[in-house]
Amino acid sequence: MDPLSRLPVECLEQILRCIADMAVAKSRPTLFALCRVSRHISKVAAPFLYKDPFHLLEIKGYLARRLLATLLAGIPVAQLHPVLRLDMDLVFSPDLDFDTGTVAPFHPFSPHCINHIRFLRHFNVGTYTFLEYVDGGMQPKEYTPAELDYIHGQEFLNMYLLERKDATCLRDPQSDEHLLLYYPNVLYREVTWTLAEPIFEQLKSLSFPLSDIRRYIQMVDRLIRLERVKVYLDMVFDCECCDDIDDNNTLQQARRQRKKESFQDLVRFVKEHTKHVPSCLKTVTTPCSGFWDFISQSCPREVEYEIYAMLPLQYVPMEISVNNWWKVKAHLETIDLGRIRNINFDWAVQEKKDFERLGQGPANTTISATTAVRPTL
Ligand SMILES: [Zn+2]
Repeated sequence: MDPLSRLPVECLEQILRCIADMAVAKSRPTLFALCRVSRHISKVAAPFLYKDPFHLLEIKGYLARRLLATLLAGIPVAQLHPVLRLDMDLVFSPDLDFDTGTVAPFHPFSPHCINHIRFLRHFNVGTYTFLEYVDGGMQPKEYTPAELDYIHGQEFLNMYLLERKDATCLRDPQSDEHLLLYYPNVLYREVTWTLAEPIFEQLKSLSFPLSDIRRYIQMVDRLIRLERVKVYLDMVFDCECCDDIDDNNTLQQARRQRKKESFQDLVRFVKEHTKHVPSCLKTVTTPCSGFWDFISQSCPREVEYEIYAMLPLQYVPMEISVNNWWKVKAHLETIDLGRIRNINFDWAVQEKKDFERLGQGPANTTISATTAVRPTL
């Protein structure tokens, strides 16, 4: 038995904890190497390697897809969505040599040896995992002939029409380009659901697309440890090229309705979660997914405000300004205003100057919190 394996498990865990806290470029290769030393060491090291594995990847795109394929290997093939089966075939294809000098295989043993999914505590796959960086920005990855066959088949078109006909660019709603952009969106959605759903109870953070939020609402009572959630905006609600289309246009009306309902669902998700597990959820972020290269979207401010007001107060500002006022307002009852050192609103500064100029106030007037309650959302 090697000296490392003779160490008590508790000592080994302490060492592994220090390694896991190191910079990503050092911790992942070290944990990975330890997982290959022996079955005993692997048993202790694997939970550290797989706790937040996507954070540990320094080369996000390819390695993340390979890791996903490794994790999917533990799921019966019959349960996999067709797009996932196609992607796994590609990633594990024996014809492709991925194990070059810079890219190491992620799985320490055969994917079937260990149930890696049970170690996951954070499931945050970036949407860029299924996009490729090119000079002009991100683009969908190159498709294999099998993927193109599927993308141009009736099954995929039916899914697209059913799911996206009211959340797309209105100029050319059924173009071939849209189907190609929709594919990585489906891949992302299905891989996230397939791997995260069986382990909802153990997840502390999770990222998923807004288009799928109703499936997550139905299971919200299982997300009992969820502290951070990232909901990617993956439907086309605001598109510059067609935003000027008349409000009475049926397609435009349908899209506005879909947008309204989707953000209501997002608020409902947070509301339901805070009801089931009060104070557990700490942050909700809503980045643009990047799947649709012609748009850049963000969450409406009033929705952001409504969600923020439901989350526990963590923010202790030293200053109040136009930029953070909405956050302060959401927790005005509980926020510690005694810590505020500076209140900075242009209108208030101007008002103070006007008062001073007219001789109606002392020169050292401080702007009170009461005066500051002017901007409304
Ligand atoms: Zn458009």
